[in-house]
Amino acid sequence: MLFAAEPLAPTIESARKVLKQYYGYDAFRPMQEDIIRNIMGGQDTVVLMPTGGGKSICFQVPAVVQEGVCIVVSPLIALMKDQVEALKANGIPAAYINSSIGSSEANNIAADCLNGHLKLLYVSPEKLLSDGFLSFIRRLRVSMFAIDEAHCISSWGHDFRPEYTQLRVLRDQFPQVPIIALTATADRLTRRDIQQQLRLNKPKVFLSSFDRPNLNLIVRPGQDRVGGILEFLERHQGESGIIYCLSRKQCETLAQKIQAKGIKAGYYHAGLTPNQRGAVQEGFLKDDLQVIVATIAFGMGIDKSNVRWVIHYNLPKNIEGYYQEIGRAGRDGAPGTAVLFYSFADVMSLRDMLTKENPQLNQLNLTKLERMQQFAEAAGCRRRILLNYFGETLPQDCGNCDICRNPPTTFDGTELAQKALSAVVRGRERLSISLLIDVLRGMRNQAVLSGGFDQIKTYGAGRDLPYLDWYSYVHQMLNDGLLFIAYEEGYALKITDLGREVLQGQRPVSMKKFQPAEKAEKKPRGRKAAAAAPAPASREAQLFEALRALRKRIADEQGVPPYVIFTDSTLQEMAAERPVNRVAMLGISGVGMKKFENYGEAFIREVLAHGGNPAAQTEFDDDLPPRLDPDDAGAPRAAVKKEVNTEAGSTVDATYQLHRMGLSPEAIAERRGLALSTVQSHLTTLYTKGFDLRLEDFLSTQDLANIQTAVAQLGGQPLLRDLFDHLREDYDYFRLRLAQHYFRRLRGEA
Ligand code: ADP
Ligand code: ZN
Repeated sequence: MLFAAEPLAPTIESARKVLKQYYGYDAFRPMQEDIIRNIMGGQDTVVLMPTGGGKSICFQVPAVVQEGVCIVVSPLIALMKDQVEALKANGIPAAYINSSIGSSEANNIAADCLNGHLKLLYVSPEKLLSDGFLSFIRRLRVSMFAIDEAHCISSWGHDFRPEYTQLRVLRDQFPQVPIIALTATADRLTRRDIQQQLRLNKPKVFLSSFDRPNLNLIVRPGQDRVGGILEFLERHQGESGIIYCLSRKQCETLAQKIQAKGIKAGYYHAGLTPNQRGAVQEGFLKDDLQVIVATIAFGMGIDKSNVRWVIHYNLPKNIEGYYQEIGRAGRDGAPGTAVLFYSFADVMSLRDMLTKENPQLNQLNLTKLERMQQFAEAAGCRRRILLNYFGETLPQDCGNCDICRNPPTTFDGTELAQKALSAVVRGRERLSISLLIDVLRGMRNQAVLSGGFDQIKTYGAGRDLPYLDWYSYVHQMLNDGLLFIAYEEGYALKITDLGREVLQGQRPVSMKKFQPAEKAEKKPRGRKAAAAAPAPASREAQLFEALRALRKRIADEQGVPPYVIFTDSTLQEMAAERPVNRVAMLGISGVGMKKFENYGEAFIREVLAHGGNPAAQTEFDDDLPPRLDPDDAGAPRAAVKKEVNTEAGSTVDATYQLHRMGLSPEAIAERRGLALSTVQSHLTTLYTKGFDLRLEDFLSTQDLANIQTAVAQLGGQPLLRDLFDHLREDYDYFRLRLAQHYFRRLRGEA
């Protein structure tokens, strides 16, 4: 089995190897490495990272490296199942035990634990604390306890679960086993509760940045939201996304309008039966439903990494909630989009709602709402405002929000401001924002006429500007402190002292030109796209679609969500790089050994069907996968099945075992009845994936020096073929490739 192949010392180098072999990733993210060192040093650890930050790897990788089994406590059954599926797809032995597991299956799992076959065991807190279970795990070698969603322990948090508080017995009963607590909630009180209640022993706390740079943040005016959404969907065809609404009714009608456009959409709210909700969730996970229109409850228990966008139909109540919800987009690190529709009317209805809902917390909640409103109305980088809210400062504007992408130009707005301020004063400070704008624009509606506002001097003085422009300028005036809103007087606008100075011509006003938000969102999709935006039907985009369809077929055959096969970012990289051989495919981020074994060939066939990468083909033409006869090129699905049904880790691993026993490639080929080139390609794969080979069997120090000289003479990163010619065919491709990778390792690139 792939797994048993390497006894690892718990060092950071082994951890890096595991990351490459099992996950297909080249490097840890900065904080991951520090966290893993700390855990492997046996210290209690607290990890605070935003959703999508990469928490799982922090405990999964040490669990693989270290002896024994890691017990993971997780509150949601659906999440457990997802994580275990993802681990298995990477070739890591894992299981979960909770109320959904029958007793015979539980017995098998227990046996696997006792035999030392499992690396990670997920349990619910109830199960962990139940009679017998603690004494069962006392018979195991437990490498560590990982407490996922650790904020559930705090009654201050938004997701308190009383059973979590009992987890303190772990420290008493297993004083030697390190505990690692992980959460995406970072507020001070929660943090304190986690440390105290779990009785962590001088834990090291890792607080990561809460920035999610891959999310494009956009705010659009709240007019014609449905039209805006349909237009957005047109530009984001086939991409999974969630639309959050306030009411059930809204959810249903919006979903219907989207369905009417031929898009697979579902809705999700508390009025559905548990079965209905389960079906909608499942449909979304499996990419059968592209869009879910939901009230906020949706998304809590799902870990779908390929959600590409989140839309807020209404203004959220606070920034915490907003950030958590948009965090569900782009968890795989590929670009994601967050669109918020904003109108001042939303602020008013939320104010009313909050005041009624909880009079005690009124002030706190209203202050939070105000911060949310400031974010929506901002004229500067939105990400700065968000991170600022969470106590972080961004040294520069982010470049990935609507304001940064389409920076407003400033102009002398003194005259505009004076018109508005004059209307406010002449309207005896009784005008709300929309009424003020109507007056300025000379509208003849009921509210204007009945108040007699058509008689004031500035009536119609702003006729030349559209409503949205005025809307923006009035908000800028509010933010600049020229006006304020008297909430208790029907939201009437009042002038401030500063406003009077402007009105009297004692103070100039600088304003930011209003630009409709749509212009800001001409966003190319995909990794490479940022440099050269491809037309929607470009080859890269077509291949991406084809790879996505293949992923969906395989996922359906195996009954798992598509993102468990490969993430969107992995498919995007494949579409851009077009790998057509083992080495190139294994070079794609997210393609580990096990996934290559299972799916590599099918995806290579798909790439080939789209023309492949000609450069790579000439470079590695002896390295094409063995079963690529043109006559069975039309049967990728059968090929996938075949691969999946082979023993775990199968063929490459068998080669590795024999290599470790000291056999030469020729001897391995003979013993296994394979072509020598196949065995050589297995060995290359192993080496590029971080396995250590006896390199000296193939290359002496002198050989390496010769090859390095040749590389230097050719300059840059020469093609293998050129290297081969330059060295007068002294070295075969196999040895050249190993050497090339050896140099890459030396340079720290692999
Ligand atoms: P969290 O649990 O913090 O929400 P995950 O552990 O689900 O985040 O990780 C989010 C995504 O980032 C996953 O697709 C994961 O595979 C990927 N990821 C994590 N660490 C790395 C890394 N070092 N390199 C590349 N991708 C990574
Ligand atoms: Zn920005």
